[in-house]
Amino acid sequence: MKNIFNYSKEMLENVLIANGFKKFMASQVFDWIYQKKIYDIDLFSNINISNRQYLKDTYSLDFIKLEKVEEDVDVKKFLFRLLDGQKIEAVLMYHDYGTSICVSSQVGCNMGCKFCESGRLKKVRNLETYEMVEQIILVEEIAKTKINSVVIMGIGEPFDNYENVMNFIKIINDPKTMAIGARHITVSTCGIVPKIKEFAECGLQINLAISLHAPNDEIRKKIMPIANAYPLSELISVLKDYIAKTNRRVTLEYVMLEGINDSVSCAHELSDLIRGMNVYVNLIAYNETNNIQFKASSKEVIDEFFNTLKKRGIEVTVRRKFGTKISAACGQLRSKEM
Ligand code: SAH
Repeated sequence: MKNIFNYSKEMLENVLIANGFKKFMASQVFDWIYQKKIYDIDLFSNINISNRQYLKDTYSLDFIKLEKVEEDVDVKKFLFRLLDGQKIEAVLMYHDYGTSICVSSQVGCNMGCKFCESGRLKKVRNLETYEMVEQIILVEEIAKTKINSVVIMGIGEPFDNYENVMNFIKIINDPKTMAIGARHITVSTCGIVPKIKEFAECGLQINLAISLHAPNDEIRKKIMPIANAYPLSELISVLKDYIAKTNRRVTLEYVMLEGINDSVSCAHELSDLIRGMNVYVNLIAYNETNNIQFKASSKEVIDEFFNTLKKRGIEVTVRRKFGTKISAACGQLRSKEM
């Protein structure tokens, strides 16, 4: 049986029509599950009994299960158990301007970034669309809050699960489901060039963030294996095309690793690399993990890096740090549980 949360409204309409039902039943089903939040098909009272029977025989409304919540100031971290027993995490953050959720897109990750906890546990499988949709439904229900923005920056490489992730985005963006505006959705990738090309054509106004983390290939290859497949020249070139095509500003994430990529000369090199592009750099304080190899840069070093970029006319922000007391780094809670 197919989980109902795998379907966009359009997809459900198409299968209903193909099976001899009225298109309108899709709107009714969506109203029950996304607006009324009723997950028992027997209670879909405006749908007749034989149609309900078809729905029951065809679609499941099974949910992933909450296993654990960790809380800190302004942040809650959720560990979920999937129906096959695999575990993933989602993080809810409270900002002045509303709430955001960081969702996982895969069980584990194959990108192998040296500093990242998720990559230590290899990819087991892609998440299905419903497993991403349900992270949001459940977090809203458990935390009793409406989520305003979504970042796909949890466990996994979203562009290594492109189809399901794009379907997920389409569903949560739909005014008939969660109505999360495209400008409030951000997808973050380590830089899979052909997928960035494809993404540029998708026609949705979603934000794109790139895990850059280094100003040159030499450093990048040391910390991110993906740099061997796609050198910076190709990545920068596809980003320029993306910006030209979509007219949207791209976020460049840069995690500050002591002694690796945080020198003033790295800041100069980075400015030269991205000068004139419609981008901004988001400096991320490294969340130290069991992975003892890497240390976070000091506040002074981050400040100096920040100021160097600023002076050279690069737009730059420092990402607010959430949940240092809990296992907030990408993949940390899951890896601790295993
Ligand atoms: N695979 C995607 C999205 C998931 S990772 C990507 O690479 O963008 C989300 C972001 O968190 C990435 O920028 C990643 O490099 C960063 N990250 C991973 N581990 C971290 C840690 N321990 N501290 C700070 N940032 C980390």
